Amino acid sequence: MTEALEYDVVVLGAGPVGENVADRVRAAGLSAAVVESELVGGECSYWACMPSKALLRPVIARSDARKVPGLRDSVTGPLDVPAVLAHRDEYVSHWQDDGQVRWLESIGAHLYRGHGRLYGTRKVSVTSPEGEHHVLTARHAVAVCTGSRAVLPDLPGIADARPWTSREATSAQQVPGRLVVVGGGVVGVEMATAWQAFGAQVTVLVRGDGLLPKMEPFAGELVAEALKEAGASVRTRVSVAEVVREGSTGPVTVVLDDGGRIEADEILFATGRAPRTDDIGLDTVGMEPGSWLPVDDSCRVAGSDWLYAVGDVNHRALLTHQGKYQARIAGAAIAARAAKVPLLETDPWGAHAATADRAAVPQVVFTDPEAASAGLTLAEAEAAGHRVRAVDYDLGGVAGAGLFADGYRGRARMVVDLDREVLLGVTFVGPGVGELIHSATVAIAAEVPIARLWHAVPAYPTISEVWLRLLETYRDQ
Ligand SMILES: Cc1cc2nc3c(=O)[nH]c(=O)nc-3n(C[C@H](O)[C@H](O)[C@H](O)COP(=O)(O)OP(=O)(O)OC[C@H]3O[C@@H](n4cnc5c(N)ncnc54)[C@H](O)[C@@H]3O)c2cc1C
Repeated sequence: MTEALEYDVVVLGAGPVGENVADRVRAAGLSAAVVESELVGGECSYWACMPSKALLRPVIARSDARKVPGLRDSVTGPLDVPAVLAHRDEYVSHWQDDGQVRWLESIGAHLYRGHGRLYGTRKVSVTSPEGEHHVLTARHAVAVCTGSRAVLPDLPGIADARPWTSREATSAQQVPGRLVVVGGGVVGVEMATAWQAFGAQVTVLVRGDGLLPKMEPFAGELVAEALKEAGASVRTRVSVAEVVREGSTGPVTVVLDDGGRIEADEILFATGRAPRTDDIGLDTVGMEPGSWLPVDDSCRVAGSDWLYAVGDVNHRALLTHQGKYQARIAGAAIAARAAKVPLLETDPWGAHAATADRAAVPQVVFTDPEAASAGLTLAEAEAAGHRVRAVDYDLGGVAGAGLFADGYRGRARMVVDLDREVLLGVTFVGPGVGELIHSATVAIAAEVPIARLWHAVPAYPTISEVWLRLLETYRDQ
């Protein structure tokens, strides 16, 4: 039986982004239906941010503690891996979404469980696991928030090799003896850091020259150095040509393009993401199934007055915090348009334009050492045509860093726009820098003139004193 139902807004996908779109439009007094085919909370809650950070937190805390004189001798033993995995399970609510479902109910959104597909203009059809069909009509907007999935390369033997993707890497219950990680981006290096610390012998394979290719080059260099010190092997300029799994429980042999072979117990492919848009009815609204969905700064799909694409699926910045930022903006834009209030692009709160996606995206890589960045790298700023100067500082020379960790190793860079004397990008690599990056995000997003930054005095003795050193270096160069 097909039941027709009408709401102001229909949200397709209840990851962190869909949840936030629903929250914003409900707060504006609009009715909302949310369609979810797996777990309310999405990839982030169960197979991405939350489990990965729960796995990494003890690894980083132990490493930091081992750098503090007087404390290091108390933390010489191995990690209690079963306890770490149990805590991870707890942190992801044992892959149960009851708590998030209750939250959706509390904001007055109506949840439909099942696979949703666009069904022509302002309509979404839902097929529940029990085979029931609903057609939801949106009076004002449909927000596609279906996120992304891991991409597996098309390699001989891959289907039979039962490779790990980010889902298995974040939810595994056993530590493999030997783990090959293919890919040196954020997921690859974070999972290599975690599983090496849990006792696996990790080999990281990257096609390019180094790790973390989207950050400043020194980030990948310092993280690779630390992974090697932890006992992992990092091999660059190498590609996987074939994978062969022996039987149903045997080891996997990784055949490399240079003819080399590596035997492992598991292989993780951390080789990129694809949009979850292949089966969401894009063809019914004249769009290409399987494509990322380009949007304007209000997250509305080009050429449509009712279709929005928010979060990973629009490919602007594949990060939870950025997707939730977009959700706040899309929600406000949907509500303003529903009320026929003009969008004020000059609104001092910038509430209707996701400009930070271009200028000031922060990211923390929870490796040991952490790598954190906001805004543009030097190469990106130059490619964008800015006249820039990179200012570097050795974090080991900062008093607060020396207090944080004996023999502190790390580096900082700020990229200065020489024409406007504001910052375009900042990168910190070193223990504890994840909590420092918001200062850079504020400086970049607010376009604080360098002359004013002199008056933002960092507390002594904290790692933040690196700001003072960077400014002095800039002045004296
Ligand atoms: C290992 C890993 C670690 C990460 N760590 C971080 C981190 O530390 N910090 C950070 O900011 N970002 C991190 N990310 C990125 C982050 O997970 C994503 O940016 C975020 O989950 C995107 O949110 P979303 O709501 O757009 O999509 P998702 O979280 O993917 O949610 C989409 C939802 O839509 C549902 N859905 C899809 N298709 C349909 C359909 N047809 N019908 C109904 N429902 C559907 C899905 O089931 C899912 O619940 C990490 C990613 C990975 C892989």
